[in-house]
Amino acid sequence: MSTSAHLEDSLMQQAAPLLKGLFSNALIGIYVIQDGRFVFVNPRLAALFGYTQEALCSGMGPMDLTAPRDQPLAKREIDRRISGDAKASFYSFEGMRKDGSTLDVEVFGVATTYSGRPAIIGMLLDVSERCQAERAVADQLRFIAQLLDTIPSPVFYKDSTGRYLGCNTAFEDYLGKKRTELIGRTVYDISPKDLADQYFAADKRLFDQRGTQTYETNVVYADGTRRDVVFYKATFNDARGELGGLVGVLLDISERKRMEQAIWREANYDALTGLPNRRLFHDRLREEIKRAQRHGTRLAQLFIDLDRFKEINDTLGHDLGDKLLIEAAARIHKVLRASDTVSRLGGDEFVVVLPDMDDKSAAATVAQHIIDQMQMPFELDGKLAYVSASIGIAFYPDDSTEIDTLLSYADQAMYAAKAQGRNGFCHFAQPMQVSAMRRLETGNDLRHAVADKQLVLHYQPIVDLTDNRIVKAEALVRWQHPTRGLLGPDEFIPIAEDIGVIVDIGHWVFEQAMAMAARWHAATDTAQSVQISINMSPRQFMGGKSTEWIDYLRQHGLPASVLAVEITEGLLLDTRPAVIDTLLAFRDAGVQVSIDDFGTGYSAMSYLKKFDIDYLKIDRSFVRDLTTDASDLAIAEAMIVMAHKLGMKVVAEGVETDAQRDLLRSAGCDYAQGYLFSRPLPADAFEILLQTLARDGAETA
Ligand code: C2E
Ligand code: MG
Ligand code: MG
Repeated sequence: MSTSAHLEDSLMQQAAPLLKGLFSNALIGIYVIQDGRFVFVNPRLAALFGYTQEALCSGMGPMDLTAPRDQPLAKREIDRRISGDAKASFYSFEGMRKDGSTLDVEVFGVATTYSGRPAIIGMLLDVSERCQAERAVADQLRFIAQLLDTIPSPVFYKDSTGRYLGCNTAFEDYLGKKRTELIGRTVYDISPKDLADQYFAADKRLFDQRGTQTYETNVVYADGTRRDVVFYKATFNDARGELGGLVGVLLDISERKRMEQAIWREANYDALTGLPNRRLFHDRLREEIKRAQRHGTRLAQLFIDLDRFKEINDTLGHDLGDKLLIEAAARIHKVLRASDTVSRLGGDEFVVVLPDMDDKSAAATVAQHIIDQMQMPFELDGKLAYVSASIGIAFYPDDSTEIDTLLSYADQAMYAAKAQGRNGFCHFAQPMQVSAMRRLETGNDLRHAVADKQLVLHYQPIVDLTDNRIVKAEALVRWQHPTRGLLGPDEFIPIAEDIGVIVDIGHWVFEQAMAMAARWHAATDTAQSVQISINMSPRQFMGGKSTEWIDYLRQHGLPASVLAVEITEGLLLDTRPAVIDTLLAFRDAGVQVSIDDFGTGYSAMSYLKKFDIDYLKIDRSFVRDLTTDASDLAIAEAMIVMAHKLGMKVVAEGVETDAQRDLLRSAGCDYAQGYLFSRPLPADAFEILLQTLARDGAETA
């Protein structure tokens, strides 16, 4: 025996009891397998599986301790070592105790020889507790991942260098990428440069400060849409308490933003024309005034009101009225500079602010441009409409430095422009303040005028040109104002129309006139054939009183022929049922209808026929220059011929001279009205006139 062999032998002899002790007391299981059977197991291994060492070493093998599920695995590993494919192997599997319960084990086996033949010596560790803990963690992670995926908002998390660690499904949808493609990337890989810079800077701030962060920004979705979002982010720490990264949620607030914007628009813009409304206008004007103050410049404030717009609205209907306003807004806009502001205050009122108007005449030029624009015909669904504009101009700081005063001065100047015949502009001047106040007061006073019996009705005769007899009378209202004296209709009818009092006034006129007609009708010997015509404003057709009138006549036993109503041409174009029905009801009842001021408004010949119009009243403006202006005479003659062809009679208004009367008579005009015959007279004076004429007539007869 060699010395080294001897040494080994002696070592082995000494080691044997040591190893034995180690094997017996080890906390890990130790075994030796040969030919698929245990030839040695230590007490720990036997205890782990609930067997005795003897039982295990009398014919049992490793397969008996392996749960069926992992038996193929265990067999493969053992075979690899026996065959020499692997010297050692380390694997884990599910073990099975004698009582059938299972445990998680890890084994480390090494191929060796035992009694001169191949064997495996191995160690086995019970890792059930660790595996259970791992499974619990895995379950939790799965749960969290599922939870994140059910959140409809994109959620993401990144490490402390800004690289994505993961995200939820909503974030994948936003990106249009799977999370596997995201992990390890940064914002620069997934967002446009400008946004990425912004996100990156925000992340950096958050990492510096730690904690939470909220801010509004926008993101670009995979489909290219940009959306408004709020980012909620928070940092998290790793197990050692060091900065681990951040989690973030991205809340889409586009819809809220859109609503906010819609509400803002609604509050600040006129829905019809898209122009700033009164509110925004005030803001802008305030800004402009501040600017003018700072720079010592002047600004002009233009108040624009469309002339006769109400008529258009009443006659063509609101839809076309709206279209006209839209077009008017566009036309105003066209003549302005970029720095000018135009707003619609409501109805047909527009205001314009012109900054830097050091030259006052420049504002007048703009006003004239607007007037020129408005004068051009408006084509509305194939119909032509004509309006004009009256404009008032006030200057900051010349007229006022107060925003409200400035606006009201421009408004007053606008009324002055209207009073000067419309279709023009006017600068503000102090006395206008007075007339504006008066208009306001007039409106207030007018509300009680009917109830307080302040209105009076005058009658102006209309004579038959063939025999100069008074056959008709026009009822013309006046207002006996408590302090201002007798006011003519031009001073209050437009205001009454504006504030709606015209409906009551019109009804009062009707009742008054019909009471008179009843008296004349009873006294048939004096004036049985005098017909009274009353004027009706378009607004009265909406009041619904007209059908009452027909009933009134019937109830009072008056023939419909005692009444005629005077309307303006434009009303015939009104397509609203209330207008059409009333006109047809008048026709059916036998109430005659006159077109007043003919030739000054819209001419719609076909409508004259449709509604069976009885009279045309040639406007005073054509009669006035009849004797001096050949074209006016030609127009009057043409009107008369046309009216007769359509089966209508003609009344000439404003006849003041014999010459006018003679020309009209020879042109075939049927009736005339004017100062030549009589001014409008109070009822009693008119009755005396009638009686005198009747008596004179009787005397001459
Ligand atoms: P209109 O219907 O055209 O009435 C005729 C106007 O011409 C009346 O003015 C009358 O006084 C005036 N006139 C008559 N003959 C002559 C003349 O020879 N020369 C001149 N220069 N003028 C003459 P008035 O009474 O001031 O009425 C003005 C307008 O007020 C009327 O014009 C009518 O449109 C309106 N109006 C009057 N009464 C009423 C009413 O009861 N209801 C409504 N809605 N409007 C009324
Ligand atoms: Mg009239
Ligand atoms: Mg008239």
